[in-house]
Formats: sequence, C-alpha cells, structure tokens
Amino acid sequence: MNRHQLVSGLSWSLHRRGSRLGSRRWLSHQQPTRATGEASHNINNAGNASTGNGSRGWGAAAVGGAMGIIGFGAGVLLAKTGGDIPKPKPDSSSRPHYANRAEMMHAAEEIAQVLGQDAVSYDADVLEHHGHSDWSTSNSPERAVAVVYPKSTEDVSAIARICNRRNVPMVPFGAGSSVEGNFSQPHSGICVDFSFMDKILAFHPDDLDVVVQPGVNWVDLNKHIASSGLFAPMDPSPTATVGGMVSTNCSGTNAFRYGTMKDWVLNLTVVLADGTVIKTRRRPRKTSAGYNLTSLFVGAEGTLGMVTEVTLKLAPIPQDTSVAVVPFPTIRDAAAAATTLIRSGIPLAALEIMDEKQMAILNANGSPAVRKRRWAEQPTLFLKFSGTTEGIQSDIARTASLIQSVQPQAPLHFARTKQEEHDLWAARKESLFTMTSMRPAGHEMWSTDVAVPISRLAEIIDWSKRECGRLGIFASVIGHVGDGNFHVAMMYDPRDAEQKAAVGRCVHRMMQMALEMEGTVSGEHAIGIGKKECLREELGEETIAVMRRLKRAVDPKWVMNPGKVFD
Ligand SMILES: Cc1cc2nc3c(=O)[nH]c(=O)nc-3n(C[C@H](O)[C@H](O)[C@H](O)COP(=O)(O)OP(=O)(O)OC[C@H]3O[C@@H](n4cnc5c(N)ncnc54)[C@H](O)[C@@H]3O)c2cc1C
Repeated sequence: MNRHQLVSGLSWSLHRRGSRLGSRRWLSHQQPTRATGEASHNINNAGNASTGNGSRGWGAAAVGGAMGIIGFGAGVLLAKTGGDIPKPKPDSSSRPHYANRAEMMHAAEEIAQVLGQDAVSYDADVLEHHGHSDWSTSNSPERAVAVVYPKSTEDVSAIARICNRRNVPMVPFGAGSSVEGNFSQPHSGICVDFSFMDKILAFHPDDLDVVVQPGVNWVDLNKHIASSGLFAPMDPSPTATVGGMVSTNCSGTNAFRYGTMKDWVLNLTVVLADGTVIKTRRRPRKTSAGYNLTSLFVGAEGTLGMVTEVTLKLAPIPQDTSVAVVPFPTIRDAAAAATTLIRSGIPLAALEIMDEKQMAILNANGSPAVRKRRWAEQPTLFLKFSGTTEGIQSDIARTASLIQSVQPQAPLHFARTKQEEHDLWAARKESLFTMTSMRPAGHEMWSTDVAVPISRLAEIIDWSKRECGRLGIFASVIGHVGDGNFHVAMMYDPRDAEQKAAVGRCVHRMMQMALEMEGTVSGEHAIGIGKKECLREELGEETIAVMRRLKRAVDPKWVMNPGKVFD
C-alpha cells in the first residue's frame, strides 16, 4: 500500500480493518454479517436484561462495591452521619491485587471454554498489535496474556464474570486509534476486542437514531445509512469504532457545529466488571429520569465497564457544503481571525487551523489531490460551510467581509467546484498522515491536545509555537480552532534522552499554561496513561477522589482497564 492510498481515509480504514481481520485468520467463525433495517434483536428488552449467574442489579453492584472496600464504606457512613467526605486514602490497603500470569492464563482458558477456542488468541503478533500504538508516546511495555473476541453482550458478561472472579484486568479494544495509551495493558490481563460486535442492530430513521454494537466503524456506518439522508457527525480517525469513540468522548473537525460524542449518545448498554448488564436510559430524545449514567460512561475509557450497545442520535446530511481557505501573516493573526468568526455567530460547519510548517509539508508531500494547488506556506484557516445553497452563499459573503475587516490583505479562496472543495478539505484531513509519513526513521511524534476558552486561543497558540521553537526540533500546530482545541505535533528522537526529556517538559508547560487559562489538558484524546498527573492538576485531588469512589462502586476490584485516567 502506498502513502497516497494510506492517506485516503476510507482505504486506510479498510486497510486497518483488513489487517485486524488478517491477524485473526485463525478464527473459524464467519465474520458476522451486518443487519440492515430493523434488527431481530429487541433492544428495548436490554434495559431489564441481566444475564448469567453473576448478574446482579446496579444497586447490588454498588452495595457490593461499598462492602468490598473499607474506605468506601467508611465514606458512606460519614456521609450518613453528616460528616465531611473523607480525604482519599492513597494507602496500600486500597491498592488492587491482580492475578499472576498463570491465573490470567487460566481465565483465558475458561473464557475459551465458554466462548469457543477460536474466540481467544495468544498469538504474539496479535498481542503486540493490541498492546502498542505507533500513534502514541504513552505505550506500556506490558502485554495482555490473551485477546478475546466476544460476539454478544452475553459473551462480554461471561468474560467479565470470569475475569472479575479471578482478579484479572480487562482492557477493552476498539480500533486502537487512541493516542494516550488508552488501551495499553500496564497490568497485563485480558484484552477484549470488539471487532466481531460490528452489527447495526436497529435503524430508526424517523426517530433520527441508530442502535449499534461497539465494533461498528463510523465511516462504514455513515456509508450504510447515507441513503436515508442521515449521518453520525463525529469524525475522529477513519478507523475508529463507536465503542472507542464513546469511551474517549471523541470529536473531530465536525465538533464546532455538532458538539462532541457525548451529545450524540442516547443510551448505552454496559457490562460492569462483575458481569452485570445495565442500560443507562431508554430511547427518547430527552429525559429527566434519574441520574445521567450515560454521561458517566461516555469518556470513561473503559474504566467503568464495557459498552456493548450504543444508541446514537443522527443528524440530517446538510443539503450543500462549501470550503474556503485563508492564509494569514502570523499564527496569532489566524487565531484572532478565528475568534472573530466564532463570535460573529456565522454557523460554520468547521473551523480548523494549520501552521506554516504543515502547509509546507502539503506542498512537499501532499497527495496528488492536495498538490493540485501551490499552498501559501503561512498559517492558514480552513473553513467549512454547510446548510442550504442560499444560506451558504450568505454565510460566505459575511465571512469574506469579516475577514477583510480584520485582515484586509488576507487572500480568501473559496472552492469553485465540488472537486475543488474535496481537494481543499483533503489537505486538512490528510495532514496528520502526511506529517507522519515524513517522520525520520526511529523518530516519534508527541502530540499535545489542549483546549482553552476561545478568547485565550491566539495567546496560547502563539506562546506554544515560541516554546516549541526553542527545542530546535520539528514542531507544528494543527487544530480544531473553532473549539479552542489544538494539537502541537513534535518529532523527536526517543534514543536521545535529553531531547525526549526536553519535549516532555515542553508538553507539560503547555498543559500548565492551558490550565492557567482555565483550559483542559485533553480536548478530545482523553487521559489514558499519558495524562494522569495532568488530570490531577486540572481537577484537584478532591474531584479525583469522587471519581475514585464512583469507580469503586461499580468496579470494587479495580479490574476494568486499570492504570488509566487515575490510580
Ligand atoms: C490519524 C488519527 C486521527 C485522529 N483524529 C482524531 C480527531 O480528530 N478527534 C478525536 O477525538 N480523536 C482523534 N483521534 C483519536 C482516536 O481516533 C479516538 O480517540 C477514537 O475515539 C478511538 O477509537 P478506537 O475505536 O480506535 O478506540 P480504541 O483506541 O481501541 O480505544 C479507546 C479507549 O476506549 C476503550 N474502549 C474501546 N472500546 C470500548 C468498549 N466497547 N467499551 C468500553 N471501552 C472501550 C479502550 O479501552 C480505550 O480506553 C485520531 C487518531 C488518529 C490515529
């Protein structure tokens, strides 16, 4: 596969999915076929479903959690008697104890007895593929002892019961495109790969929603339902699966118009650590019934349970779209213009930024579609418009006049044809792949992901560029500037300990700066193992302590994706 095939989102997606299937060729069962239209599976029953012997209700799980952990129980007692919430106890008594390797292997063998021998792999390549990401600088050297492939919620529940009983960590795996070590296995355990749970279970076009299994890839989903005029708007890596997207609360270029993943999840079916199956809510667009458990699991990175079904809201595909690009003399000018556009209320579909280094890379190494034009090697805003054709014309006119008012010399270029629109936007979508393809052998890329209130955006981007400039390495800014979210990609040689440490310090300073600006250390890539310390700095120990208590309530043995988000 050549690089230009690689950078095409879809072919890349298929390549990755193909290679995943290839790595499982030893599996004898047939690839599950995708159900079309209404599925035979009755999703509405799932709310009351409780499978297998180990299943208990939510209440029972919570009580079990409280009883199992002395610290948690004491917290409840104090709360009842009106005392203060106790400070977290980072003592060794609350430290989880995991099974040894032999016991983990027994768990895998027991899973094979229940799910079938062909649903478990011990293949070294498969373990490596599931334990390491070239996109991430936060890899752990440990590997799971086995990868298991469930096909149903019941299978997942059985896996959980076995692992929980034997104190074996479970690490859910979607497509492995997350970048903060989110699916790595620092405590080994069993990796649960959802790629055989890739069915569309029910499609309700009149309700604008779809019920899917977690292994469904979002690009495939959108192709499958395109004729209905609806789509799922979140657009992270083209390989990503719905389960991973839910669990990282992902977003992408469409977030400026459509919000983030949390805004598109109606309900979830989740298997808890002990095998209990819960459904977080039913299917109406709104509800004020009870706690918002859906949001608890969105962005939880698989630390609270395994998502086995997702009801997603869908949006109407816009009647028309258009794209414009506009270079600016400095990154600060570009970011300031972005802020002006955001404040204007023009309903842009996306507002993205790439710095002069990214633009130079496009000229040098972009795909043929992207190299049809010579790009100005200056910081550039990419704007997407969507709506009715007339509405777009009016939005474009307002945008042109606004940009003229802040930067009279800025040469705004609008796509004149659909092909040109595609080519212009391809430049933004391919940028990460193009940059990665230029990485010198042995070098790694460290990508930050901070977000700040938009009024501080120009300032922090400008500051970050200067900080990275001091390192004397390749560093480039790219981002979803419409959301105040941007990434700085730095290429470094991991064999050069000094350089690696300098990059690490720079990343940390950037995150501290974001926090000083009331921002966040993770706009869309979640915490994983890479940003646990930063999360503590962002939220404070008391808030993390509440998260810890919530986790213990549903996962008293701390077996769900341990070592992620917080310890
Ligand atoms: C080229 C590229 C571009 C990207 N662009 C973006 C972008 O624009 N915006 C963005 O937000 N992200 C982006 N990402 C990051 C990545 O695509 C997202 O984080 C995505 O949501 C991960 O999905 P996945 O299926 O690959 O999940 P994985 O990486 O497999 O897993 C992610 C996390 O979810 C957990 N998990 C997976 N499945 C389940 C489940 N069924 N139940 C419970 N937990 C589960 C895993 O344990 C892990 O913690 C990009 C990545 C790449 C490589």
